[in-house]
Parts: sequence; structure tokens; C-alpha cells
Amino acid sequence: MPTGIVGEFLDLKAETDADVLAMQCGDFYEFFADDAELVADELDLTVSQKSSHGSSYPMAGVPLSELTPYVKALVERGYRVAVADQYETDDGHAREITRVVTPGTLLETADDDARYLATVVREGDGPAAGSSAASGDASGPYGLALADVTTGRFLVTEVETAGDLRAELYRFDPAEVLPGPHVRNDDRLLGAVREDLSGSVSVFDAEAFAPGRAKHAVREQFGRETADSVGIDSEPALRAAGAVLGYVEETGAGVLASMTRLTAYDDGEHVAVDATTQRNLELTETMRGDADGSLFETVDHTVTAAGGRLLREWLTRPRRDREELDRRLDAIAALASAALARDRLRETLGDAYDLERLAARATSGSAGARELLSVRDSLALVPALADAVSGTALADSPIAAILDRIDRDRAAALHAELADALADDPPKTKTQGGLLREGYDEELDELIASHEEAAEWLDTLAEREKRQYGLSHVTVDRNKTDGYYIQVGKSVADQVPEHYREIKTLKNSKRFVTDELEEREREVLRLEEARGELEYELFEALRERVADDAELLQDVGRAVAETDALASLATHAAGNDWTRPELADERRLDVEAGRHPVVERTTDFVPNDLRLDAERGFLIVTGPNMSGKSTYMRQAALIQLLAQAGSFVPARAATVGLVDGIYTRVGALDELAQGRSTFMVEMQELSNILHSATADSLVILDEVGRGTATYDGISIAWAATEYLHNEVRARTLFATHYHELTTLADHLPRVENVHVAVDERDGEVTFLRTVREGPTNRSYGVHVADLAGVPEPVVSRADAVLDRLREEKAIEAKGGERGGGGGGGTPTDTAEGDTKQVVFDLSSGSFSESDGAESAAADDPGSRGGRNGATPGSESDGAGGTTGAAETAGAAETADSAETGRLDPETRAVIEELTDVDVAETAPVELLSRVQEWQSRLDESR
Ligand code: ADP
Repeated sequence: MPTGIVGEFLDLKAETDADVLAMQCGDFYEFFADDAELVADELDLTVSQKSSHGSSYPMAGVPLSELTPYVKALVERGYRVAVADQYETDDGHAREITRVVTPGTLLETADDDARYLATVVREGDGPAAGSSAASGDASGPYGLALADVTTGRFLVTEVETAGDLRAELYRFDPAEVLPGPHVRNDDRLLGAVREDLSGSVSVFDAEAFAPGRAKHAVREQFGRETADSVGIDSEPALRAAGAVLGYVEETGAGVLASMTRLTAYDDGEHVAVDATTQRNLELTETMRGDADGSLFETVDHTVTAAGGRLLREWLTRPRRDREELDRRLDAIAALASAALARDRLRETLGDAYDLERLAARATSGSAGARELLSVRDSLALVPALADAVSGTALADSPIAAILDRIDRDRAAALHAELADALADDPPKTKTQGGLLREGYDEELDELIASHEEAAEWLDTLAEREKRQYGLSHVTVDRNKTDGYYIQVGKSVADQVPEHYREIKTLKNSKRFVTDELEEREREVLRLEEARGELEYELFEALRERVADDAELLQDVGRAVAETDALASLATHAAGNDWTRPELADERRLDVEAGRHPVVERTTDFVPNDLRLDAERGFLIVTGPNMSGKSTYMRQAALIQLLAQAGSFVPARAATVGLVDGIYTRVGALDELAQGRSTFMVEMQELSNILHSATADSLVILDEVGRGTATYDGISIAWAATEYLHNEVRARTLFATHYHELTTLADHLPRVENVHVAVDERDGEVTFLRTVREGPTNRSYGVHVADLAGVPEPVVSRADAVLDRLREEKAIEAKGGERGGGGGGGTPTDTAEGDTKQVVFDLSSGSFSESDGAESAAADDPGSRGGRNGATPGSESDGAGGTTGAAETAGAAETADSAETGRLDPETRAVIEELTDVDVAETAPVELLSRVQEWQSRLDESR
């Protein structure tokens, strides 16, 4: 075991569970051993070797004053950094760990985004739950607490399921998560959380999650009254809150004091938007992970950091209460139509600093003079903002009400105090003097005057000595070892007067002191110290004064943020011809000439209508690849979401019935592009939607069942449609490449077909981007092969094979016939009674009632059954059994055909391979790539 300095370092390191330790050694912070290597790797520090009692250790160091940026850089990379400081003792010095900086408690951040620390507790979690807690056995709700130490925001809630928990975490994207004792052992949940978040997961003392201790911590921090009145009556929520406080205290970042705003939020107020949906709708980043091209980036015209944070929150946490939404819409309507007033308001807002963060820095004691100046300047805007509103069209809008909430007298008083106290251009450090304005404090002014006088005497001493004693080459200076001295050039050193006492000889000069100089020196140093101390004392008092008004600063900050976010939405609405949605309580979404808010920015966009309501609650969207299905569906979801964020929407007109949740899942192809597609994931997402959505939800399904074999896929899509239509009754848009599903519209009363139209002429496809009623008139896979120039014999054979593969197998449609009852019923009223059994024949693509009567399959019956009138295969190729059992179509038969006989060998080989493909057993993605391969081979052989 090493001893000496390295030994001490390793001992301290063993005390902490931080990843890295920085230990003060005199004027440096040093890292030793593994920590030195790690820091050197991450931050490009030079490693040297430290010999300690015969062994040698890697060592890296940074000067005391430069530690902060290094710690920040390490923490931003996800490390927890312990800092050990050195202090004097009677017999030398000692060191101890004074703080641990972690991703969630890092106060110094240049990033404008909120920086949350999150704790998660599950009901029934005892501190002793230990390793026996598997993911299934604690069944209660989850408590979640989120603290932003940079602004003092503190949110507490309870959520029911692991999915809700993930959605909340995804939305806040905490920099650090502390799982409670049970959650810590739930590998599945923790794995998912790790995958969802960019932040790190830290382990924290299980004791801190214990109910008694947590309750105590919350009451200590916020006062018994607040803790009780905010109404965290959920035990897991309370425990989560207590654990956050415990962690913040233990890490010693000194920010506990800034945690003043406890907010319990209850998700009854918000629209459920799970993590998958936030990702699919690209709310804050695109599927590829870029901020550019996200909804937030598109509508964000905020001019303050706090405004940006709030706008992001609005978009990721849409609301359900009409009152609040109407208030926002009123404000945006007023702002959108008053361009001049809006511009003036935004210009004024632009000068505001981040008051929420400044308040936190004042309370934590880390604010310097420049930060207090920022407070001063931001407070100066309060009257300016009021002026920008009064007498304009905004005077009667909710904007005026927002600004009226600020206690203007209090703001003016604090502003005046800061204006009187602070110097205009203070230095960055707090100890150098120059922080305060002349006239602020008489005693300080006197000290400064005497200090300057004494300094002046010293400054002019050299001149006086030159004159008085006829000396050339005289300077007066000071340094650490000699203090003040008179330095005389060697050539004249023998001419100095007698009272000069020599203290040092240098190469070309000599240094002297005199009694008077020494006395003046003592005087100057005394004054310097007294001035510094007094000034710092006054400054501390001023900062405390600001900290006392933290709530005021937060109020002003909140008003600025809100005004900024609203002005941003108004700016976007005015600039892009968005319209005010009419919010409705009925279950409907009625959009006239709607557009996709992001795609419309870069494309010549074709607007489309949409109608979902009680009679027409489920739309099956068909159309070829790339025709615009997913854009159409996402635009519906985004219009819904924007309306419930309180924003205008990209449409000519929109009536938006409020929803309780927006659920989406996107198909295998999109997910493949992100490298995260497994059929399991797809089914988990589907399962979540079927469990969570209600008759008040909006559901977007962009392909279901693509990740598995055709018959599996179609069966699942079929059953999911029935379930959503009959049981859940959510408003649903479902894009599918299973053309078979379009026939469901004839039998399920609220299902309708729409398709994205394309124009085909001379083999050329033009995408019209127009959504029309009814299904597409044919299946598109083979059609695309045709358009791509695959030879006619191959295409017609493919059609025939396709039809063959549609077994003579029947599926019954559950849920009653078109026009049947049940249109506006409750989600659970689909009793067996109104379920009409209809049978779908996959080979003919048509339905028959269970009594055997045929019913028309699609609006355009002639289009089914394959090209060139090829009849559906009647032999069943022995494909009995259930899903996925369709066997390969006969290859021999193909090779024998007269047409194929005339073909070149390569084309024949392609046809053989095509015939051999077991469509039912091959994933669509693979099919696609094989079709591509065949095409290029055919191209070459031609
Ligand atoms: P699909 O889901 O049918 O494969 P997408 O929705 O992905 O098709 O759309 C394909 C392309 O068409 C996208 O690049 C999109 O920008 C463009 N697009 C979609 N809808 C429209 C529209 N209404 N107006 C203009 N371009 C559109």
C-alpha cells in the first residue's frame, strides 16, 4: 500500500464512490494513479510520474484557479468528480473531500437547457428490498422527483406504470438518475431508461429513500406547510423528493438553498405522450438525433434561454385543460396580429438574462458581481416590458395579465438598490475590489480614498527621490519577498542618501528600503486588506439581499419566459400562415387544408383535409411507398399536439377535440434505419398502445406487423384494428401495406379508407400528395416492380404467385357490419351481441356473411385478383395449418411455362428464385432487398 501523498490520495479515493478525485496539493489540484490516466485521456492533460516511497505513479495536475472548467468537462462526460481541499491544522495541513460534483448537481453550465437530477422510487420499495426485488413483485406506482439545481425548480409526481415513468424521464431528459432500492434491481426498466436517456444513472444510499427520512428532509427544506399544502400525499413521490434533497446535500454543491420551488404535478392535466411517440414525432430531435428539423427547432423563435426551455416543455407536455390552452391561444392571437408591438416586446425581452438561474446562483452563494449586474439589468426591463404592452393592441391580452403578475414595486426597489451598489464594470473576481460604486458606503469610500492616497504616495516616490537626491535610474516597486523597495541603478548606487538601507544587490542595480517606506508599506497593506474585507462583506450582504428576493426574480423570470414562448409561437404562426384551432370537447379532429409543420418549411407542400369523428373514427391509409402516408398521419398528430400545447396550427381551419394521449408506432423500415428494429420492439409498442389508449386518445400506426412473415403480420394488424375499433375506440390513423385490410371498412362501422393518390401515365408515376377517400385500387409491391421496368413475364408471374400465396383461408371480421349500431357508444359496449360475423376470403379478397352471402370487397372490385385476370391459385400446395404455413409455390411449373422458356439464363434464374421465395416466411425488408437485387440483375442481362 503506497504511503505519502499518493497513499493519502488513495485513502480519500476509497472514501468516496465518485469516479475521479481531484486533491489539492498547495497551489494545484492533483490526480494520481488511474485517475491521472483517465483525466489525461479525457482532457488532454500531461501525465508525469510521481515517485512515492520507491514506487512511481502517474500524476496530472491543474492550478487551483483552473479546476472548475476541468471538473465541468469531466462531469459533462458523465463522471462524478470528488474534490478534496487542503486546510491548515496546528501541525501542518490535512485534506478532506468537500464536495462531489455529479451530472445532476453541476451548477456551472453554459448550456441553456434545463439540467435535471431525477430520483425514482417504487411503492412497496423498502430500503431492505435488496436483490430479491425482481421486476414483477412491487406493483405499486412510481414516485418521481426532478430537481434542476441551476434554476431551483423542483417537480414531484406519481405515475402509474413503467411506461409512464419512461415517458416522463424521456421528456425531462435528466442529466442524472438515482434509482431507488427496488428500481435499481429492475434490470429491464433500468436498461430501457439507460437506452432512452443520454444522462447517467448513479447509485445512492438506499437509506435516503426511507419514508421517515424523506418526509423529514422535505419538511426541513420547504417547511411543513408547503410540503403539506403542495399536496404530495403520495408516499413514493415524497420519498423520491426526499432522496433528491439528500443527494444534493451530500454532494455538497451548496445548492440546497436554491431549491425553493416545490411543485407537485399531476398527470391528469397533461396529454400522455410516451417516449416512443416523442421520438417518432421528432418533437425535440429527429430520428437521426439532430435538433435541426425537430418540431421544437422549427417553431422556436425565442430570444431568451428561459423562453426556450418553457417552449420545449409546452411541446413535450401538452395539456388537457381548455382554460389554460384558450389563454395561450388568446395571447398568441393578440401577438400574431400586432406585429409591431410584438417586435418591440421581443426586442425588449432579448435583453433579459436568465433570471431563474441567476436566482439559483444568488441563493447558492456563487453569484459574482457580474451576475448581480445581470440581475440589475434584467429588472430594469420590467417597466420597459409594461411600456411595450400598454397602449398597444396587447393591452387587453393575456400578455398584460402575465406582466401584471410581477410585483413591480418590489422589482423597482431591488433594481434601485443594485443600481446604487454595483460598479458598472466590476472585475470577474470577488476579492480584487472594484465591485461597488462610489457613494454606496461611506466607510468604504473613506478606506478607498486613504488607500488611494497611500498608493499615490508610493507611486510618486521614485520621482520625488530622483528630484530630491539627484538620482537618475530610480524605480519603486514591490514583490512578494522584498515588499516595497527603491531600486537604484548600479552606476548611481553610491550616491544614495544615508537613510537608505540596502536589502539586495542585483546584477545591475541595488534595492533599498527606508523607515518611511516601510511604514507607508504597512499602511498601504492594512488599507488594502481593510478595503477588500469591507467590500466583500458589503457585497455578500448585497447578494443575500438578492437571494432574499429569489422568488421575485423567479416570478419575473417566469413572466419573461412565458411572454417569450408565446411571442415565439405567434411569430411562427404569423410568418407561416398558421391558424387558431378551435378546441372542442367532442371526440373529433377536423382539419381543413392541413400541413406538416416541419415538412412545409422545406417543400412545396400539398395541403390535405382530415376528418375523424364519432362516425368515422378509424382511417386506413393506403398508397404506394413514398406517396406521403406517414407525413399525412404525423401531420395529424402534430396538429393535435400543437393545439394542446396552446399553439396555432398549420391548416386553413381546424377543430380539435382534446385528447388524453397521443400514441404512435412507426413501421419496421423507419426503425431499421435507426438500427433498432426487432419484431419484439414493434410488438411491445403495439401492446403499450392497446393497453394505454382510450376513447379519448389519438393513435397513429404506421405499419404494423411488417417485422414478421406476411400471414403473421396481417393477422396481427387485423386483430389490432378490430380491437382498436371495437374496444378502445381511439381515433386512429393506420397506414398499412396490407391491402387486404382496406376491406374492413365495409364491415366495421367506423372504419373508413383513405388513400394518397398517385398519377400513372406511360409507366411514369407522379406523386400527387393528395389524400382521397377510398382505398388504393391495388396492391403495390408487384406494381412497383412493374413500374421499375421488370420484364412483363416476371411481373405477371409475380402477380400469379402472389395470388397463389393468398391461401384459400378465411378470416372473420369481428365487430359488426357497416351501418350497424354502436357508433357513439362507450368503449366497452361492444358486446358479443352486436358482433356480426363476416368472413374474409383471402384468395378472392372479398367478404361473405357467415350465412354465405358474398359482399363486395372494395370500392373497386374489378381491381382485385391480380393482373391480366390471372385467377387465384386453386391448389393449396399443401399449405395447411395456421399462420405462416403457406408453402413455396411450385418452381417446376414456372420453369416449364412457354414464356419463361424464351428467356435468357439470367432472367430465368431470377424467375426461379422469385418463385422459390417463401413470402409468408420472409421478412418484408428482406423481400425488398431481394427485389432490388433481381432488378439490377435483370437490368444487366438486358
Ligand atoms: P410514405 O409514408 O407513403 O412512404 P412519406 O410520408 O414518407 O411517404 O412521404 C414521402 C415524401 O413525400 C417525403 O419526403 C415528404 O417530404 C413528401 N411529402 C409527403 N407528403 C407531402 C405533401 N403533402 N406535400 C409535399 N410533399 C410531401
